[in-house]
Amino acid sequence: MTPAHRSDLSDKDLSGLVAFVTERGSEVLAPTNEWEVARFTGPSGVCVIYRNAKDRLVWSGGADVAWNAWKNAKEWRANKRTKRGASKRWARFATLTARDGNACFYCGKPVTFEDFTVEHLVSLTHGGPDHIANMAISHARCNATAGHLSVVQKVRLAVDMKGSAQ
Ligand SMILES: [Zn+2]
Repeated sequence: MTPAHRSDLSDKDLSGLVAFVTERGSEVLAPTNEWEVARFTGPSGVCVIYRNAKDRLVWSGGADVAWNAWKNAKEWRANKRTKRGASKRWARFATLTARDGNACFYCGKPVTFEDFTVEHLVSLTHGGPDHIANMAISHARCNATAGHLSVVQKVRLAVDMKGSAQ
């Protein structure tokens, strides 16, 4: 059974659930409003737990399935079993373009699913998180040009590249 009220869902349970889904390939997304308790990717799209006006929890997008799998030690995967890498790539592309549009962070030209790469604004080698908040879409060639520049240098480069494209 999933908790019905916000007060029934302890922070410990919530962090346990988040750890459970993250270990199974889920990407934890930032809440889009104050009512959301958790938002993460699942096999049938984005799972959201939010509280409604009566402080009751609503489990949408299969969030309850993830909860029950965790509580009952059942199998759960964030991605469909086939083409795991491909569906994660697709989830990232869909999430980032929904948030930012499909323009390359550097040159500003459209990026397609085939040629997109994830730009980590604070690079992973500089300790940047592998989290959606630290990501933008870019062409592979633009991403390679930026290398491991600092965020400020990357922003300057992006301004320069967009300027020279006009
Ligand atoms: Zn580009």
